[in-house]
Order: sequence, then structure tokens, then C-alpha cells
Amino acid sequence: MAVVLDPQLLEILACPCDEHAPLRLGTPSDPTADALTCTSCGRSFPVVDGIPVLLLDDAFREPTAPAPEGSGAP
Ligand SMILES: [Zn+2]
Repeated sequence: MAVVLDPQLLEILACPCDEHAPLRLGTPSDPTADALTCTSCGRSFPVVDGIPVLLLDDAFREPTAPAPEGSGAP
């Protein structure tokens, strides 16, 4: 089931990574997942009972996530 978060709440939330980038709903492969994904570092954070768990220790990365652009790959 998709996460339902107040858009205003989503607006003030930021990833705990160094970029403090905004988050978006879902994961790259599943926009309806109960998770929030950083738009910068690509970490995904679980949403438990409607509460985003923005802890780097609890963050996960999708194994299928594409490599970031500009990584220098030939
Ligand atoms: Zn981040």
C-alpha cells in the first residue's frame, strides 16, 4: 500500500545524509512502496505506521538501483 504523507510534511523532511536533500515517496523501482527515497544519495528509508524512519542506520539501497550519473563509467 502506498505511503500517504502530508505534502507539507514531505516538504520539510530531509535526508540525514550530508546533502540534506529532499525525499520522494516510494523507491526507484516501486513508487508505491512504504518508503522514502533521497533524491541525492539514493538511500531509501522505511515508513513505519506512517512515520518515516530517517535514520542512516535503517536506510537501505535497492540492489537494482542504477548507478548514479556522472560516476565516470566508460
Ligand atoms: Zn541522502
